[in-house]
Amino acid sequence: LASRDFHPENTVIRIGDVTIGGGELVVMGGPCAVESPEQIDEIARLVKAAGGQVLRGGAFKPRTGPYSFQGVGVEGLVMMAEAGKKHGLLTITEVMTPEYVDVCAEYADILQVGTRNMQNFDLLRKLGTCNKPVLLKRGFSATYDEFLNAAEYILAGGNPNVMLCERGIRTFETYTRNTLDLSAIPVLQNLSHLPVISDPSHGTGRRELVEPMTKASVAAGADGLIIEMHTDPDNSMTGDGVQSLFPDQFAALLQDLEKLAPLV
Ligand code: PEP
Ligand code: MN
Repeated sequence: LASRDFHPENTVIRIGDVTIGGGELVVMGGPCAVESPEQIDEIARLVKAAGGQVLRGGAFKPRTGPYSFQGVGVEGLVMMAEAGKKHGLLTITEVMTPEYVDVCAEYADILQVGTRNMQNFDLLRKLGTCNKPVLLKRGFSATYDEFLNAAEYILAGGNPNVMLCERGIRTFETYTRNTLDLSAIPVLQNLSHLPVISDPSHGTGRRELVEPMTKASVAAGADGLIIEMHTDPDNSMTGDGVQSLFPDQFAALLQDLEKLAPLV
């Protein structure tokens, strides 16, 4: 079902007045994690002012270590839904387990599957029965075939609204957190009809690389971007402050993108 052979036309996902995969660039911006109502409200305001369409933020965080901040949970979903509604943005948040799909779907417009859960097949099956679009991140060691098979699980369950997200893969390089695989964008668009979103934040792990890799992703044909932005990145509650843009950098980047591709 994920293959272009089966479905020659591009899948276009429509959510409210935003279309994804229809030729316009969609920008999702926000913090790694929802931290407080004030934090997410202020960041939502800045995402909207910059021209973004979707507010990102994790309420449930998949942390490498069990003692790290794990996210604020369901309360974070409520905070983000309120901020999104107030500022006229759609919202996207990560869901980590099948049991939480229903509550995440109640509060968010798009559900994100993280890199570490790309092959959490019970989660993928549950998302197949859900009526919200899913952004599926590529596993950091997944081949294109494994990635598309993961998408297939969701599609096979009856949910046609799946976006593929390249977020960097693990290579021998240690300077960057991951290596953003730009080739994935055209390869996945050739093999599949699903929209392809690029994540230059996790794909590089370094703030100064987000701008060039965002532009490179657009040049490579990405249908959208998911970018971390924080009002106080040095004090963010996850380690991802180092890759988060400051609000003025985010706004300047979106201005530049207007010249490269029309925003929704
Ligand atoms: C995130 O988007 O904050 C995140 C945890 O992403 P990934 O699953 O790509 O590491
Ligand atoms: Mn993050």
